Amino acid sequence: MMLILRRPWLKLDYRVTEGPECHAPYGEAGPDAVLLRCGLVPGALLNQILDHFRQALPNEDAAFVLWNERTGEFSIDFPVIERATPSRLVYRTPQPEPDCHIVCDLHSHGTGAAFFSATDDADDRNSTKVAIVVGRLGRPGAPSFAARLCAGGMFLTLPGLPFAEARDAD
Ligand SMILES: [Zn+2]
Repeated sequence: MMLILRRPWLKLDYRVTEGPECHAPYGEAGPDAVLLRCGLVPGALLNQILDHFRQALPNEDAAFVLWNERTGEFSIDFPVIERATPSRLVYRTPQPEPDCHIVCDLHSHGTGAAFFSATDDADDRNSTKVAIVVGRLGRPGAPSFAARLCAGGMFLTLPGLPFAEARDAD
């Protein structure tokens, strides 16, 4: 059984369970594949988001990366934060225009570790997006990241973060 999911920004083929061996009416199943059809998010956007998260310290903070399928451009949406503390965050998911899609939903755990909490699991189970938690902000060394693809009610491991390296020119 495979989860085949297509979004303007995402192409996902994921083997949920193995066979029985049979002749499938739609042809042979290929290997698992995750493709970000929108490409990688520019690193400069990640840097902007990290700056925003640092300014919110010691509180948690959130940001969305949107992608416009008509123009191919990425943008950041900093959502309305209804309540923020160092360990709790309540925010509203944006409702993008029809051509725009939420690709990434990022939130920080402030100076704490990056991991998906039970609250995060409950928040993420009904959406199709890349969810990212950023931790260890405002501490020496680089921030830490936890990332996963939320699709079909499952949480799938990604081969890496969906960001391109930020170039000096950015
Ligand atoms: Zn969290």
